[in-house]
Amino acid sequence: MYLLPMRRTFDRYGSGAFGAGRVDKKHQGQDYLAYPSQPMASLFDCKVERIGQTYSDTKEYRLVVLRYDRQTVLKCMYVDPIVKPGDVLSVGDKIGYVQNISKRYPGMMNHYHFEVIIEGVYVDPHIWLTEYLKRLK
Ligand SMILES: [Zn+2]
Repeated sequence: MYLLPMRRTFDRYGSGAFGAGRVDKKHQGQDYLAYPSQPMASLFDCKVERIGQTYSDTKEYRLVVLRYDRQTVLKCMYVDPIVKPGDVLSVGDKIGYVQNISKRYPGMMNHYHFEVIIEGVYVDPHIWLTEYLKRLK
């Protein structure tokens, strides 16, 4: 049985929910609470498509792009990966370690950021994940 991760709610920087307001756009993912250095395991059978960076001004904060199926791409931000592009992951395989985003944004609840993109459209990751985990159980 897999439990839904806990969502980042409100802190001084706003809400971690999908669609929440940001300076220039809407929040395209869902933030999930996690401690810095917390190991992150894959909830999915998937393939590592790309490793990148979250911000243009630093390489510190990482981005892991996972291919779930032909239509669906998953993006995880603020995760220091131990995987590389081309790696095939099963449920439970370790992806990496959650990073310390509260170092860049003091007072922010530490979290990783999770996006689900289906055929190029950003969908609510928490709804998608809830349905996915129901099927997984
Ligand atoms: Zn976020």
